Amino acid sequence: MADKLNIAIYPGSFDPLTNGHLDIISRASKLFDEVIVGISQSSSSKNYLFSDDERLKLAKKCTKKLINVKPIVFDGLLVDYAVKNNVNVIIRGLRAFSDFESEFQMALMNRKLNTDITTIFLMPHEKYTHISSSIVKEVFSLKGDISDYVSDEVLEALNQKYEKK
Ligand code: ADP
Repeated sequence: MADKLNIAIYPGSFDPLTNGHLDIISRASKLFDEVIVGISQSSSSKNYLFSDDERLKLAKKCTKKLINVKPIVFDGLLVDYAVKNNVNVIIRGLRAFSDFESEFQMALMNRKLNTDITTIFLMPHEKYTHISSSIVKEVFSLKGDISDYVSDEVLEALNQKYEKK
């Protein structure tokens, strides 16, 4: 048992990755042997601003200093990916009470699907509790300053994306 690695997955859309996400990733990287950042693949029902590859590249750039963090793109059921990759923990971020209901539902469903995988919630620094990828994109599209909330790499990617639009 002592030899077993504790591998966690932090799943999400990360469209794009914000400093709130990075805060959670950095906390998780101190708690687990390996942290997989699981970027959900786009599908016909989910339309993202950034492609799978762009979200993956941004996540890799932003986490390059955290050696036990591995961003990947996954599709299908999260618990299936977890079983195949020896993941025993799912990490989700909790910003405010409003996150609780849907997170609670998802955590219990994942536990029903696989009792061996535990969901753990981490809270970010207070300065990130009011941000989401959606609000960051909305403010940026209206030319507001979001530099406190995303990395330079993400800011650059947003600039390029909106220049093309
Ligand atoms: P999803 O569409 O799966 O919610 P997100 O990329 O929006 O994907 O979020 C992934 C996870 O990160 C979720 O658990 C969400 O609550 C959490 N999260 C999002 N923004 C923040 C933030 N600012 N601080 C902490 N956690 C966050």
